[in-house]
Amino acid sequence: PPGQPQQGQRGSGIPGIKHLVAVASGKGGVGKSTTAVNLALALKSLGLKVAVLDADVYGPSIPKLFGLTGKPEPSDAAGKKMKPMKRYGVEVMSIGFLVPEDTPMIWRGPMVMSALTQLLRETEWGEADVMVIDMPPGTGDVQLTLAQQTPLSGAVIVSTPQDLALIDARKGLNMFRKVNVPVIGIVENMSYFTCTKCGERHEIFGHGGAKEEAGRIGVPFLGEIPLDKEVRLRSDSGEPIVATQPDALHTALYRDVARQVW
Ligand code: ADP
Repeated sequence: PPGQPQQGQRGSGIPGIKHLVAVASGKGGVGKSTTAVNLALALKSLGLKVAVLDADVYGPSIPKLFGLTGKPEPSDAAGKKMKPMKRYGVEVMSIGFLVPEDTPMIWRGPMVMSALTQLLRETEWGEADVMVIDMPPGTGDVQLTLAQQTPLSGAVIVSTPQDLALIDARKGLNMFRKVNVPVIGIVENMSYFTCTKCGERHEIFGHGGAKEEAGRIGVPFLGEIPLDKEVRLRSDSGEPIVATQPDALHTALYRDVARQVW
């Protein structure tokens, strides 16, 4: 590996996994899962061994983003542990593999926590330099407990440029600070849209908000990811842009983020 994550040197506590990096957001729909998947694949493209844990138990979208269906196999005859699924050279585990898609996740906090602990500790992970954890959106008790109980090396916060999303991102920062998890930085998603016909840049949700806010609160700004139809289409079809379009602008942008995380 090229080095250690910039911040946080605690071991992960999970056999075989060196570092756990959470990807979080103050609210849903800002592109947290999309960022988590493409960041994981970008870390992989830097030559690291990478695993992904879908901790978004209320709306697990990692199976779909990776184009994975089916169930994980037991790793031994006793069936005590599961083998992670594998795609694009990355090991993947999600509650979405274990429950049918249309099951409503009306779980209470303690059940969510035990499901997550199970996913994390009862999976026979291989060796990984870094595991990217797609956190549930928001900054409630589940998120706080998860951040507290999982030995995270650091957290990446995803936000859109909108003020409201930023206020929520700030909550996310405070949550991680409260439990002494270093915040690696903020990624601004849906930053702008470049018109495919005229080439003009449209700042649909405003611009610069996340960068300014990051500077103001003293957290690194990791980059801007523009809105792009190809990102959405490839996410929907389980062919994330970083894995399938090595020369795309977005692939380069996600790699820039990955270099700052590692
Ligand atoms: P979250 O995990 O925060 O709920 P998702 O990653 O599921 O958000 O993204 C929400 C929707 O926005 C998805 O349809 C996804 O494909 C789309 N999306 C996310 N980021 C981008 C982007 N940069 N450009 C275009 N679509 C995006």
